[in-house]
Amino acid sequence: MRKLLNLMFQSLTGQTGSRGAGNGGARAEPRVIPRPDHIVSRKDIPPHALKVLYRLNKAGYQSYLVGGGVRDLLLGSEPKDFDVATDARPEQVRKVFSNCRLIGRRFRLAHVHFGRDIIEVATFRGGSNGEEGAGDVVQDKGGRLLRDNVYGTMEEDAWRRDFTINGLYYSIDDFSIIDYVGGMADIERRLIHLIGDVETRYREDPVRMLRAARFAAKLDFDIERATAEGIGRFAPLLAEIAPARLFDECLKLFMAGYGRVTFDLLREYGLFAELFPATEAVLQAEGDDGGSLRLLRQAMANTDQRVSEGRPVTPAFLFAALLWPPVREGLQQRRAEGLSPGEALQRTAASEVGAADQRVALPKRFRIPMREIWQLQPRFERRQGKRVWHLMGHPRFRAAYDFLLLRAHAGEVEQELADWWTRVQEVDRGEQETMINAPAPQAREGESAPASAPQGRPRRRRRRGGRRRGPPQTES
Ligand code: ATP
Ligand code: MG
Repeated sequence: MRKLLNLMFQSLTGQTGSRGAGNGGARAEPRVIPRPDHIVSRKDIPPHALKVLYRLNKAGYQSYLVGGGVRDLLLGSEPKDFDVATDARPEQVRKVFSNCRLIGRRFRLAHVHFGRDIIEVATFRGGSNGEEGAGDVVQDKGGRLLRDNVYGTMEEDAWRRDFTINGLYYSIDDFSIIDYVGGMADIERRLIHLIGDVETRYREDPVRMLRAARFAAKLDFDIERATAEGIGRFAPLLAEIAPARLFDECLKLFMAGYGRVTFDLLREYGLFAELFPATEAVLQAEGDDGGSLRLLRQAMANTDQRVSEGRPVTPAFLFAALLWPPVREGLQQRRAEGLSPGEALQRTAASEVGAADQRVALPKRFRIPMREIWQLQPRFERRQGKRVWHLMGHPRFRAAYDFLLLRAHAGEVEQELADWWTRVQEVDRGEQETMINAPAPQAREGESAPASAPQGRPRRRRRRGGRRRGPPQTES
């Protein structure tokens, strides 16, 4: 209550508001929120982070908790990580901690290690935000920051951050929060608000547009008007970003537990089209009740569910879904041209993955499992004989089966087919044999079966009571 009153008072007296964002970086005294007027408590900060903050402070340096950690604590949620900002240079930080390593050539950062836990300590940086490039700041013709490894004051450090809510500092000295950029007001108003001039800041680093959508989804905040309008204008600048960096961003967008909401926001702001143009083209052509949209939303929802349950998720599966709409179309076309299923997939995958790679580079180690998920799809159409065992024993069976469920959800295959595969995994061996040896159901109208085996082909009967549960190791 007291906090609320204090904030109301400050808004009335004009000490708060959007002074931070949009004014191109006019400097003023920061707003200082004393400990009794905010909810960030030391008991919510993990001991390792506290240790780093105190040790730097005792050694005579300024030290603050900054960024997502402060933001999330202010919102009453549990931060993913805790970053520290200081006026100590990286070499000075290293002298304070024996368990410290300096990393990064572009931005030298100190990593303080506590077993597997790492606290990142960054020296205040300056020289960004459209100012004259002092020191080691390098921009390209379009204003993109190629290097900004220049140290600065805490104030400069605040102004070069992306959003006002990410520019708050928690002081270990007096437990106050220091706000140069109007972040507290935007926390209250639940707004994602780019710091500084929109065009300058998006040109410096177009990835900030993706971050805006990500934070809006994660925090359930609105995007402030100019910040949002800028995305509409500058989204095409994402084409300049290295595909490997965009892959990393995609993991944060889709695999951090709120991918379903993020996906819709990215589409709404025209950002998805910059990341996955071929997929967006299919989504557009199909419209709002198209199967591809259902498939992708369900893939995102499933991923979120797994993340919330602490189960593993893999980019291979996610990308199998993200690239599937154009791959499926390419497959249909090549099948219509008379190519075999194997050949059609081979060629379609090569061309679609090659094209997607120009925007978002999926690392090699995920490409084979992604393709296998696609390759196994036609094999689900065959429910008789030992092929079933072979398929169930395939290392990628589980992922491919999950993918089949997505396709059923999207109306690409009969739900009955997906249910059959669910059931065959649940029942005991005897029942499995019965299912697998049952006469093939008639192929249904509309069931896409590009590679289905000729039904009713003579089969060799399996001997009953075989000891193996899985696929045969050798053919007998
Ligand atoms: P998360 O909860 O996802 O970790 P975060 O805000 O901590 O959110 P990080 O990517 O960990 O995000 O970055 C830490 C801080 O560094 C941000 O809060 C922001 O202040 C600053 N920052 C990160 N990326 C950028 C960027 N592209 N431009 C400007 N500042 C950035
Ligand atoms: Mg973080």
